[in-house]
Amino acid sequence: MSHILVVGGGIAGVTAATALAQSGFRTTLLEAAPQFGEIGAGVTLSPNAMKGLDFIGVMEEVASAGVEPFRQRIQHWKDGCTLVTMDRADQRGRYGAPYVYVHRADLHAILVEAAREAGVELVTNAAATRVEGTTVHTADGRRFSADAVIGSDGVKSVIRQRFEPLPAHFTGHVAWRALVPISPELAELANFPGVHIGPGKMVTRYPVRNKELLNLVFFARQPGWTDDGWTIRSDPKELIAAYDGWCDEVQAMIFAAAQGPLFKWAINARTPLPTWVQNGNVALIGDAAHAMTPFLGHGAACAIEDAVVLARALEASPGIAEGLDRFVAARHARATFIQAESNANADRMQGQETDMFGLGALRNEESLGLFDYDCRTVRV
Ligand SMILES: Cc1cc2nc3c(=O)[nH]c(=O)nc-3n(C[C@H](O)[C@H](O)[C@H](O)COP(=O)(O)OP(=O)(O)OC[C@H]3O[C@@H](n4cnc5c(N)ncnc54)[C@H](O)[C@@H]3O)c2cc1C
Repeated sequence: MSHILVVGGGIAGVTAATALAQSGFRTTLLEAAPQFGEIGAGVTLSPNAMKGLDFIGVMEEVASAGVEPFRQRIQHWKDGCTLVTMDRADQRGRYGAPYVYVHRADLHAILVEAAREAGVELVTNAAATRVEGTTVHTADGRRFSADAVIGSDGVKSVIRQRFEPLPAHFTGHVAWRALVPISPELAELANFPGVHIGPGKMVTRYPVRNKELLNLVFFARQPGWTDDGWTIRSDPKELIAAYDGWCDEVQAMIFAAAQGPLFKWAINARTPLPTWVQNGNVALIGDAAHAMTPFLGHGAACAIEDAVVLARALEASPGIAEGLDRFVAARHARATFIQAESNANADRMQGQETDMFGLGALRNEESLGLFDYDCRTVRV
């Protein structure tokens, strides 16, 4: 039985480790943090992502932990008027899987439990510092060896350094993120989730955790990021100033976000690599392979798709090298396309002429056909 070492226990790594173990591989998952977990924020899982979770047997559990919206809208920054309404009813009928908003911690708990049940060896406090062949060295001096190493260690990936020495780049976008209780003032915004768009900025909101919490993300373009860290404490005055003149609904969301500690994130990404495989035994998945801007809400979806296609390709191949090649052949074009379209979507939604948005054919994750993809059956 081949032994696979997965480095990084985020959405990509835990899903991949589970799928690999379920496919019959001995699997070890290394995570740098003292415990498996995720940040306090929401994530949107489109039907194509949920099909991947179905492959590892947790789709309905995740859907139950989340919220399935039946509609969404895009609104004007200044007066809040609705520019476009998206019908999200019957996503199961249309795409064979639901569209779900979920708290990242809830999703992660379900994924880690699935990994445990599948027999994955879970190792925490194991920060990879370098890879030699298929041996991973960790910060505390341990070494882990296997037949193949899968780098799922996120946008700052150590494993990716074997492919290119460059660090991730700042995309020119920042985000303030908050999870707030759904007060009566926010109830209508939670019932009809969506995004307010305006020149250079947008505000996303949706409910999670049985509609008790509203996930808020305020995106803005900023010319540079000079702090060492990628997440810094932010004074609410900065957020208030950034959205000066935006409509009352946005002001209500800012007021709610300002009640708790507020953090600002640099949105970093990666330029496409020609391949995600080296020497037939080291590969990258998820953000380590193709970190993208979040303007199509598809980074986690791509991570889940990678994980499932990787396990299927390895299981279908006589050897690891062939399996990894088949994985890249099946996934590279789609992920690279989504990276480019995510950037283009920011330009579309944050353009100067908000009044004109939605007058022509809408180009978004659904109209691009991303929801139709099925990682359970795509050719490997
Ligand atoms: C504001 C924002 C909103 C987003 N919204 C959405 C959305 O709605 N839908 C969607 O599909 N995507 C969304 N995304 C993208 C999505 O969050 C990411 O693409 C996804 O989380 C990537 O998962 P990952 O497992 O590849 O990486 P990560 O989540 O970064 O996980 C990497 C893991 O590796 C561990 N690690 C790091 N270094 C090491 C090391 N050296 N050794 C061992 N372990 C290590 C980390 O601790 C972590 O657990 C959003 C992103 C942002 C910034």
